[in-house]
Amino acid sequence: MKDTLSKIFLTLAMLLMVGRSQAQPAIGDLRSPFDFEILLSASYAELRSNHFHGGLDFKTGGVVGKHIKCVADGYIYRAKVEAAGYGMALYVMHDGYMTVYAHLDRFPDAVAKRVRKYQYDNERFEVDMYFAPGDYPVKRGEFLAYAGNSGYSFGPHLHFELRDSSGNRLYNPLPYYKNLVTDTRAPKATAITVYPRLGAGAVSGEQASKCFELKNGVLSDTIDAWGEIAFGIEALDYMDKTSNKYGLYRIELSVDGELCFENRMDSYTFSENKLILACVDQARERRGEGTFQRLYRMPNNGFSEYRSPDARGWVTIDEERIYNVECCIADYHGNQSRYNFVVRGRESEIAEPERVSAPLSWNSDNVLETEGARLYIPKGEMFDDACLAIAYDDSCTLSGSCYSTDEDVVFWHGAKLSLKAGDDVAGVPSDKLYIGKKGKKGLSWVGGKYSDGWLTATISSQGVYDIAVDTVPPVLKPVKEASWEKNAKVVFDLDDKETKPVSFRGTLNGKFVLFKYNRKERRLTFDFRQENIKSGTHKMRVVATDACGNTAVFEKSIKY
Ligand SMILES: [Zn+2]
Repeated sequence: MKDTLSKIFLTLAMLLMVGRSQAQPAIGDLRSPFDFEILLSASYAELRSNHFHGGLDFKTGGVVGKHIKCVADGYIYRAKVEAAGYGMALYVMHDGYMTVYAHLDRFPDAVAKRVRKYQYDNERFEVDMYFAPGDYPVKRGEFLAYAGNSGYSFGPHLHFELRDSSGNRLYNPLPYYKNLVTDTRAPKATAITVYPRLGAGAVSGEQASKCFELKNGVLSDTIDAWGEIAFGIEALDYMDKTSNKYGLYRIELSVDGELCFENRMDSYTFSENKLILACVDQARERRGEGTFQRLYRMPNNGFSEYRSPDARGWVTIDEERIYNVECCIADYHGNQSRYNFVVRGRESEIAEPERVSAPLSWNSDNVLETEGARLYIPKGEMFDDACLAIAYDDSCTLSGSCYSTDEDVVFWHGAKLSLKAGDDVAGVPSDKLYIGKKGKKGLSWVGGKYSDGWLTATISSQGVYDIAVDTVPPVLKPVKEASWEKNAKVVFDLDDKETKPVSFRGTLNGKFVLFKYNRKERRLTFDFRQENIKSGTHKMRVVATDACGNTAVFEKSIKY
C-alpha cells in the first residue's frame, strides 16, 4: 500500500512539474525598464528572512527620480500605496502576464491624480486600486513612472517582478535580461552543514547538526558520520561591476555520482513564499550563525522549485568507507562552482536522543496544554514531526526540537497560543493586553485577542511568550517644528515602542488632509505645497493610535 501511495505521489509530482512548464505564458522579449546600463542589486528568489525575493532589483545610480520605461505593451492595472512593503507600486497587465514596478518615487500624473482622489474620498493614505484596460494603456518603451526608494527599501532602486496574469505566480525575470547583464563571476560557498536525523544518524559521533567551513573551497575538517544524514550550504553569488551579493539559481547535490537533491529557481507562487522557513535552517539563522539552505526536503515542504521529488536529500551511511559528495552551485548565466568532499563512514552508536516530548506529527492537529497556557498547532503547520513542550510560570515557554534535528520549530502560517491573564494584570482593561515574545531587546509585540480571561495570538515559532500591558500612547514627536512654516512642510517622528502597528489621521481646520507615512523611517509628513491649500492660518490636528487603542494627539495653528 505504501509503495502504491508513493508512486501516485511521484506521478502527481511529475505531472505538476510538467504542468508548471506548460503554464509559463508566452512572454516574448522584454525591453529594459531603463535607458541606461543595467546593474542589479538583488536577484530573483534571493533568501530573505520570511520570503523569497520575488523579482530583480535594478540599480538607479543611487538617486531617485529615474524614468522607468514600460517593458512591453499593456495597461496600468493596479496602483498601490503602502507605508512599508512596496511603498508606491504600479502593476502593468500585458497579454497573458503582468509586470510590477515597486518602491516608486512618483506615479505618472494621471494615475497620481486618481490615487489622490481615492485617498481623499476614502480618507486614507494606504490604497490598493484597480483600473480598466482603457484607463491607462501603455506602450513598450513609453514612460511609466519615476523610480524611488519608497516603502521597505534601503536605497533607491526599482524592484521589478514578472508574474502570470493572475498575479499569483512569480517568474524569474533574468532570462529576459540575460544579455543586458554582465555576469562572469561564479557563486561561492562558505560552509557546509551536516544534519543527522534525530535518533537515526550521527555526525562526529553526535546527534547535533555540525558546521564545516570551506576555506578556498576545501572543507576545514573531515566529516565522520553514521546512519541517516543530510546537508546544508551557505553560499552567495556575485556579478561583474558591482559589490552586491546575490542568491543562487541552481544547487545540485550528488553522493557517489548519484543526484540526491536539486533546487532551481524559475518560478513559485505567493503561497510558497513562507516555505523559506523550511528551506532555510531557522535555528542557525536565529543564532546568527549564517544562512544555510537545506539540501533536503522537510516532509511538509512542498516547494515547487525542489526538482528532485523522488530523492529527499537524505543519505544513508551504513558502510565503513569513503562516500564522495559533490555540491554544484550555479547562477543563471551558467557560472558555477563545484565543491567535492568526502564523508567517512564510521560506525558509531546512535543513542536514543533526549526529547522534551513524544514526537508530534506534522500531519495532524496537535494541542499542547498546561495550567494557564494552551497551544493549538493545526495540521500541516509544522514542516516536520517535532518534539515540543510547553511550560507556564509567569511566562510561557515553548521549547522543542524538530524530528530531523532542527532545534528550532517554526510554524508555516502560525499556531494559536492562548495564555491566561494572571493576577499580575488583574484590573487592567482587556484591550490594553497583548502577547509579546521575549528577545534580546525585551518583549516584542505579537498581538492577541482577549476572551474570557484568556489572550490568544498567532505565533510563528517556539520561544518565550508573555502577556504584557500597553497603556502608553504612540510617540508622535514634531521634528524641527521651528522650520515647518518656512518649509511649508510638517514632519513627525511616529512610532510605538510596545504595540507596533500605528494608525494616524491628520486634519486641517477639521477636514481630512493627506499625511504620508514611511514606516522604515518612522516619518509622518504633510506637505502644504502638494496639497493646494489656500494661504492663511490653519488649525492642524494629528491623532495617532496604537494596536491597544492608546492615542497621541498633536494640535497646532500653522501659517501657510
Ligand atoms: Zn526587490
